[in-house]
Amino acid sequence: MIRIGLVGVGKIAHDQHIPALAGDKRFQLVAAASRSLPDLGGIPVFYDIDEMLAKGPELDAVALCTPPQARRETALAALRAGKHVFLEKPPGATVSEVAELAAVAREHGVVLFTSWHSRFAAGVPQAKAWLASRHVRKLTIEWREDVRRWHPGQTWIWQAGGMGVFDPAINALSILTEIMPAEVFVTDAKLQVPENVQSPIAGHVDMTTLGGMAITADLDFLQTGPQTWDITAWTEDGVLKLSLGGAELTIDGTAVEVGENREYPGLYDRFATLIAEGRSEVDVRPLTLVADAFMVGTREVVEAFIE
Ligand code: NAP
Repeated sequence: MIRIGLVGVGKIAHDQHIPALAGDKRFQLVAAASRSLPDLGGIPVFYDIDEMLAKGPELDAVALCTPPQARRETALAALRAGKHVFLEKPPGATVSEVAELAAVAREHGVVLFTSWHSRFAAGVPQAKAWLASRHVRKLTIEWREDVRRWHPGQTWIWQAGGMGVFDPAINALSILTEIMPAEVFVTDAKLQVPENVQSPIAGHVDMTTLGGMAITADLDFLQTGPQTWDITAWTEDGVLKLSLGGAELTIDGTAVEVGENREYPGLYDRFATLIAEGRSEVDVRPLTLVADAFMVGTREVVEAFIE
């Protein structure tokens, strides 16, 4: 039994982590830390990780569900206390801080897991297997969602380090880096940043591979009506399309049987396996692509965002 504590009890902790932990017999949620001290029905809740580590029950692992800007210090405290650490996506506010966390995890002999939930969407393993033996000519990402619907009141997303529209779009990049047989590079980006915030509300990213394949990503945080989370790859054998964030897969328009979407149960299954094997899994490729888009991207200031 892995005794685990959650830090940052907000939307994703309530929607996914608590139910996934309740459904996995290898884990026992024994404590949480969140400044608003939410009522978790008998599970002791502390103000922050320091208080949880000092006064709470014995823990083997900690899952961090805070925004990325609040991740590093909390992760360091957990690792230095000898706890295995599950990082929500994105694993940090910068690429370099994740390397530091990996080094501290090694030093303390504990597991660090940079989780990417979209890689556990039902269609992703089959998409990866299908593409592995094929030549992809072109790939497009369309990630358009309504920030007011999915991120209400999340002011951190608009602050520096919050990544704006890249908070959801990094999920697409996590699928891209999982299913593409080749390494991907950013070549150009255009970012639209509202005049009253620090992070982009829309954008376009051009990417390529060593083979020169064209990859584009069109991102929008203001899409009302039907929401779009699509990745489409053109190959000599047909067109593969992942929809609904990877939950559905079609090839040349014909649906492929992919089974149940079990993203967070899949993540905790992987975390339990990593702990059993004493092995960290640290992958910053999606975060590196975001960092590169910010580095080469031109910025256009657009109308203020008022929630
Ligand atoms: P959220 O609803 O804002 O919850 C985050 C919680 O972290 C807050 O409730 C807050 O609780 C705590 N926190 C600690 N330090 C904070 C700080 N400096 N600023 C703001 N909150 C702070 O956000 P979320 O949607 O759960 O997202 C958290 C992480 O999960 C993000 O990295 C996000 O990308 C990822 N994620 C979110 C979703 C989703 O659908 N929302 C899906 C997958 C992954 P206290 O005030 O009580 O401390």
